[in-house]
Amino acid sequence: MNFDIEKIRADFPILNQKIYGKDYIYFDNGATTQKPIQVINAVSEFYSSINSNIHRGVHLLSEKSTKAYEDVRAKVQKFINAEHEHEIIFTKGTTDSINLIAFSFGEKYVNKGDEIIVSAMEHHSNLVPWQMLCQRKNAKLKIIHFDKNGELETDKINDLITDRTKLLAVTHISNALGTINPVKKIVQLAHNKNVPVLIDGAQAIQHTIVDVQEIDCDFYVFSGHKIYAETGIGVLYGKEKFLNEIPPYQGGGDMVDHVTLEKSTYLDLPFKFEAGTSNYVGAVSLGIAIDYINEIGLNKIAEYETELLNYATQKMQAIEGLTIFGNAKNKASVISFLLKNIHHYDAGMIIDKMGIAVRTGSHCAQPVMTYFDITGTIRASFAFYNTKEEIDRFIEAILKVKQMFD
Ligand code: PMP
Repeated sequence: MNFDIEKIRADFPILNQKIYGKDYIYFDNGATTQKPIQVINAVSEFYSSINSNIHRGVHLLSEKSTKAYEDVRAKVQKFINAEHEHEIIFTKGTTDSINLIAFSFGEKYVNKGDEIIVSAMEHHSNLVPWQMLCQRKNAKLKIIHFDKNGELETDKINDLITDRTKLLAVTHISNALGTINPVKKIVQLAHNKNVPVLIDGAQAIQHTIVDVQEIDCDFYVFSGHKIYAETGIGVLYGKEKFLNEIPPYQGGGDMVDHVTLEKSTYLDLPFKFEAGTSNYVGAVSLGIAIDYINEIGLNKIAEYETELLNYATQKMQAIEGLTIFGNAKNKASVISFLLKNIHHYDAGMIIDKMGIAVRTGSHCAQPVMTYFDITGTIRASFAFYNTKEEIDRFIEAILKVKQMFD
């Protein structure tokens, strides 16, 4: 396909080095993505020539800083097709965005005996905050389960929803299994019964076109570092109606209008949810990362990553004693697997010594591991800068691990 991989790889300095004397292969993109030189340079240039705290000064650089930050808000709005710019709230990341909603939405709408629905394949980030909310409010957490292929039992959703259900939270793409969930259909099912939906887009935003109006979700959250930007910046998209109704999550500077010693009034959206100095440099990096991706095209990226996924899956399925966890029909470029009788840490460490970075463990999704009765997996997750040649070397590494343990 028409994809200039050499040019792309040249943009990512970290990929062009040797680890243990070998060309570095980075297959841990589910955990975090690498940064193109355009992002790295933009951050450095921002600190060298513009840096100033936002929203606070009349001096020129503060105005420039503020404009750079607010321009990214508009860019994110366009990127995910939100209706309004003020529906984009900058946070620290996915976890922060979910905690914000679990707290604020929970304060406003969740009472004793109410119910929240999540799926059994959630990252701990989209599970623990809801458990905490349910504990705080004496509410009940209900679960959408998945089958052995890693597909959500969406046909059970209707029966799970009752008139006490206050919110449904589900991941767009599972970081542990790679499943792409039918989020539009899930939103429709929930909306038929007037239940709002939060979607965890941490693994989706970098792999697929996200249109929040088309999905019609009420909240959509993601992290900058998963989409080639810096760490410490994230996004909460929320429908205006909900963001207006729910209370602020944190108090402090930048989110208040009038303050007396007794009480304060708050700013309107989006500032009401952005207390304290925001990570405006992180936001700038997110803007550059979005430009970078838009230039290549998310459609092309998704197509190429699917090619990598299919290529690797086919080769791995041919290896005796290798089990893949997560065989959904609709999958992102994530392969979780185990080798018979070999602990995932042992395999991961040997693969590392061959200059290949994969992730081992439970991937912050312990209930998924419990379902399969395992303690963890080895996970290879591909990005658009990875290649089939790298996958070939990875297959050789897996065979070597097998050979060592045989
Ligand atoms: N949800 C999913 C599906 C994830 O993959 C991750 C990161 N691994 C998170 C949530 C949490 O993201 P962050 O640590 O950036 O807040």
